[in-house]
Amino acid sequence: MRTAHRKQRLTLLVLRDAQHSVKQIQLSKPLMIAVPAAALLSIAGLIVSLQIQSAQTISGLEQQLTLKSLEALKMEITVTDKNEAIERLNRAIIQLSGEAEQTKIQMERVQQLEVELQQFIEKHGQLSGQTSYSTEDDAHHVGGEFIAVHENEMLNLARETKDDFEEIQQIISRMEQHIPRTLVQAQETQDQREGMPSRWPTESKRLTSSFGYRSDPFTGRSAYHAGIDIAGKIGDPIYAAGAGVVTTAQRSGARGLYIIIKHPNGLETWYMHLNRLSVSEGERVEQGQTIGELGSSGRSTGPHLHFQVVKNDQTLDPISYLQ
Ligand SMILES: [Zn+2]
Repeated sequence: MRTAHRKQRLTLLVLRDAQHSVKQIQLSKPLMIAVPAAALLSIAGLIVSLQIQSAQTISGLEQQLTLKSLEALKMEITVTDKNEAIERLNRAIIQLSGEAEQTKIQMERVQQLEVELQQFIEKHGQLSGQTSYSTEDDAHHVGGEFIAVHENEMLNLARETKDDFEEIQQIISRMEQHIPRTLVQAQETQDQREGMPSRWPTESKRLTSSFGYRSDPFTGRSAYHAGIDIAGKIGDPIYAAGAGVVTTAQRSGARGLYIIIKHPNGLETWYMHLNRLSVSEGERVEQGQTIGELGSSGRSTGPHLHFQVVKNDQTLDPISYLQ
């Protein structure tokens, strides 16, 4: 390469191999400086851009790495969560199973009590034509504490618990049908018991005339006595022998002031020769309630209560009803 000094210009001769001609390039001085500078700058730029690129790549890789490890961590957390959830579920199944077992036992006890109540009603209620129902007496598998170890065992336990709950459901629906009937029967039994004229109707227990044939106190001739006479003081309280409804509360010649109370099962109680009435017709009375005062009204020789029991229009011996 040779340089020529002509008008501040530089000539560059580019020599290549033998097959090519010599190339002559004329350059101004400033350009002579600019070209290497530009080359230098471009190399520097290349280095910088390479650095930036590699930094980006590294950062990208780092990011990917972080994501990957996060995912791994997440996976780990998910697995841990799942294990914990399974553990919780297992515990819940065990607890539920225990509760189901316990509830079932309680339900069976209640059911047994209901059966006993039914039997009590049938025994004491003297109900005729009442049909009893039978309760299924299934053999139940009642086990001790159960500690589950394997998945299959947990599944079995869950299945058994489900069965237990279904059985409980059946017991409840059976009871839902039976209990209202039992309650009605119990109410009827209670009404009948309270409606039975079993309470002694006076304070005094001094019986002056019994039920049946006797000599008439007025005529001395043999006569039928439809009730019992209990002597007492005028003004003594007269009690309803049983719960019922007052059908008569009035005065008549021979009976004097008298009351008739209607009880269940076609039973009536009659109270005669009263001094005063405390109830009126149509009134409902409880067993033992004061209904009037002892007196000597009507065909009477002295203060006493004539008490009689009538069933379906037939007089019966009151003593067989009174306690
Ligand atoms: Zn009498």
